[in-house]
Amino acid sequence: MCLAGTLEMKLPAIAAAGFDGIEVFEPDLIASPTSPADLRRRCADLGLSIDLYQPMRDMEAVPAEEFAANLRRARAKFAVMQQLGCDLVLACSSVAPTAIDDDDLAAEQLHALAECAAEHGIRVAYEALAWGRYVNTWDHSWDLVRRADHPGLGICLDSFHILARGSDTAGIAEIDGNRLFFLQLSDAPTLDLGVLAWSRHHRLYPGQGAFDLVDLTAKALAAGYRGPLSLEVFNDVFRQADPGPTAVDARRSLLALAEDLAVEPLVPEPVRSRLGVPPAASPATGCAFCEVGIDAASSESMTNLLRGMGFRAEARHVKQDVTLWRQGGITLLTSSEDADPRVPGRGQVAALGLYCADADRAAQRALALGAVPPAPEPLIDSLPGVVAPDATRIYFCGPDDSSWSSVFEPVAEHDRDPGANAAGETWDGVGLVALDHVSMTQPFDSFDEARQFYARVVGLQAQDLVEYAAPFGLLRGRAMCSPDGAVRIPLSTSLVRRGGWTPGLRGPQHVAFRSEDIVATARRLRSAGVPLMEVPDNYYADLAARFDLSPDRLAEWRRLGLLYDRDGSGELLHLYTQVIGSRVFFEVVQRIGGYEGYGAANAPIHIAAHHRQRHPD
Ligand code: MG
Ligand code: MG
Repeated sequence: MCLAGTLEMKLPAIAAAGFDGIEVFEPDLIASPTSPADLRRRCADLGLSIDLYQPMRDMEAVPAEEFAANLRRARAKFAVMQQLGCDLVLACSSVAPTAIDDDDLAAEQLHALAECAAEHGIRVAYEALAWGRYVNTWDHSWDLVRRADHPGLGICLDSFHILARGSDTAGIAEIDGNRLFFLQLSDAPTLDLGVLAWSRHHRLYPGQGAFDLVDLTAKALAAGYRGPLSLEVFNDVFRQADPGPTAVDARRSLLALAEDLAVEPLVPEPVRSRLGVPPAASPATGCAFCEVGIDAASSESMTNLLRGMGFRAEARHVKQDVTLWRQGGITLLTSSEDADPRVPGRGQVAALGLYCADADRAAQRALALGAVPPAPEPLIDSLPGVVAPDATRIYFCGPDDSSWSSVFEPVAEHDRDPGANAAGETWDGVGLVALDHVSMTQPFDSFDEARQFYARVVGLQAQDLVEYAAPFGLLRGRAMCSPDGAVRIPLSTSLVRRGGWTPGLRGPQHVAFRSEDIVATARRLRSAGVPLMEVPDNYYADLAARFDLSPDRLAEWRRLGLLYDRDGSGELLHLYTQVIGSRVFFEVVQRIGGYEGYGAANAPIHIAAHHRQRHPD
């Protein structure tokens, strides 16, 4: 149930992603024309073991005649399992209205079930569902397993059922590992929701939510568990998504977990060294370049905008139509993309070049984590790269490695853009000194995957999740940053974007440059005629109400179209350009003091303003 599709579609996706085995979920088998014996052969051909059959529901603590019927049902399933070559069945704690609150009866019937299974060479793993009628905690299920006292009966620990209830997990490391038959892992976001709805709709792969799966898994391993680390993730998105990429995402989550377990003291040494972790990280430490792709329709407005913003076209790619622009410590590439008839002029962040200590190791790690390299005809042959979940290309660049720029030929001095402003004066830029952040809207369906990609593959740290209301729907954001803030990639997504009514920008992206004096920069941008985003007067009236600002400062910001925000440690002044092409625009920021955010409070202002730019009526 981690993947969408039929059994026949899931198996190749699971095998291709590199998993060792599967659980057979009974509804998949029932809906399949593949016989159990053929399924066994098919899995063997794909190199997959069948580690568990599930679920067996509402077995225990029921009246005697009902239990007799349950055993009859169980025997039929045990026969199917024998054909599958699977010797472990999952029995989950009863939710039946007929269940009786009687631990002695439950233990007695679990013993009988295990005895019946043993006659078929099958063992039973008993799992406490978080919403079980009388048994809903792991320690209660463990207590019943001990009482039942049958060697063919053990427990299944499922991280969701344990952690969603906030159960104390200290005792897990103390249980008899031989009786811990199976371990199912899923993560989940923190939600104030009933456990059943939370479980059915919002489970995530390990490392994509808020649960401490490293600690829980380490305790199971400390107890002596040596079975599979299995994923059991119910999620509305995964259940509708192409199983191929979802399986890769799932596998990456286990590799990331293995990596964390390998340095977890609770994990016994022989297990730690067998975890098969990917090559060590070489995290991104800085931004070498940002590439913006534009089509012919947007080319002129993009070129004019960059000139107006003080960038100088310094070099051109020797083979491709790519221009290299510089200002301060910023390198910006513009590349040509084919027009897309569905959008009014394309313009988007196409690639990021990121500095790291060891580019080759970063690339090897990325591939080990299931990332794919960019398609042939690379922009820069010497730089290894991978494709992010939203298709942005990410290149890894060694420290002080400028060899990549050798594929660019300097533009002859007399061809250089003189950088003249509207008045014909020349100047050396407008005071933009560094790339501050590159903000990218993610498809809703890959928002959580993108977090894990930028954390594990690129080596950035996830900041807190923010949600804010905006004119065209609630937005969810999470910035991925290097510890010193040299690389900042705020990711955002529209929640549940459905239907055709999408008057706002689709998937907006922006590239933000840092200025040390944004007032001076803004004056130069205004005098150069750069198309800046218009800010309504109501915004400044609100600023004056919320903050005790001097009237002169406020008047100047209003003239220049500056936005303002403040947090506990500093202030942000920023401005936006209009949108170029389908979805990209630029921002200038000045961080004053220790301001670490991105002006999310002002996002509705620029979303509404960009909408007015496109639809002036
Ligand atoms: Mg489970
Ligand atoms: Mg921004």
